[in-house]
Amino acid sequence: GEVFLNGQYVPYAEARIPVEDRGFLFGDGVYEVVKIYRGRPFRLREHLARLQRSAREILLELPDVDWEGVVDRLVRGGGLADRDATVYIEVSRGSGPRAHHFPPAGTPPTVLALAREFPGVPPEYRERGAAAITHPDLRWARCDIKSVNLLPNVLAKEKAVRAGAYEAILVRDGVAIEGSSSNFFAVLDGAVVTHPEGPHILSGITRAVVLGLARDLGYRVVEAPIRVSDLGRASELFVTSTTAEVMPIVSVDGNPVGAGRPGPVAASLLEAFMRLV
Ligand code: PLP
Repeated sequence: GEVFLNGQYVPYAEARIPVEDRGFLFGDGVYEVVKIYRGRPFRLREHLARLQRSAREILLELPDVDWEGVVDRLVRGGGLADRDATVYIEVSRGSGPRAHHFPPAGTPPTVLALAREFPGVPPEYRERGAAAITHPDLRWARCDIKSVNLLPNVLAKEKAVRAGAYEAILVRDGVAIEGSSSNFFAVLDGAVVTHPEGPHILSGITRAVVLGLARDLGYRVVEAPIRVSDLGRASELFVTSTTAEVMPIVSVDGNPVGAGRPGPVAASLLEAFMRLV
């Protein structure tokens, strides 16, 4: 298939990014991952608004791109018109001789988008739920920016995988902030609780959709910090993301959550989410 690179469609194997691209040298860029359901993007507008915001927060001016057209062409051109897929979008601050400060004004950003078929969440996670570990949140103080600087997330996720778990729940000052690549929810005293928006979390598109669904379903919704010391009394835990959708967490650091299997709140939210997509 083809990728979109700097305004052109290029065969995947021929797409090239300069060796001094700042995304590569410094992680100086922002990104999005959009889910495609049966050929159609889900919440594309919201993803593009977040990309715009992330870019603004790092003082990167996004070039004008007809993203709807790009996503459509990548999906259709990739033979994914009736499939589930993801589209990855990245914009870096372009390339130039290595120096931390910004390159000269007028340096064009590098703009990349590519589509890949995405088979979806393994059914065993759906049926039996997934395991999680806790891990210190070693990230910076602007986790609201979706930047390609993902080393702490990568290391935490790898630790989870090595422990046979699906996700690492990042903990800062005794608070379970979010997952390494997902937002974190608990059901506490019957209420659906998740960390409030702010500099310590990425404001997930799925998080917002799920909060809306929770309200529609009549659940009490609370945006407040979730203390690790409260995890033991949660009746359910789950994480949300573009690719994981609503994923029940049935154990944390080897300790079962509630009954140790996916609970009714996560099940009802997942069902409502699937109706929506
Ligand atoms: N938090 C982090 C750190 C993420 O990387 C992601 C992205 O997958 C999310 C939360 C979930 O965001 P979204 O629902 O927009 O995919």
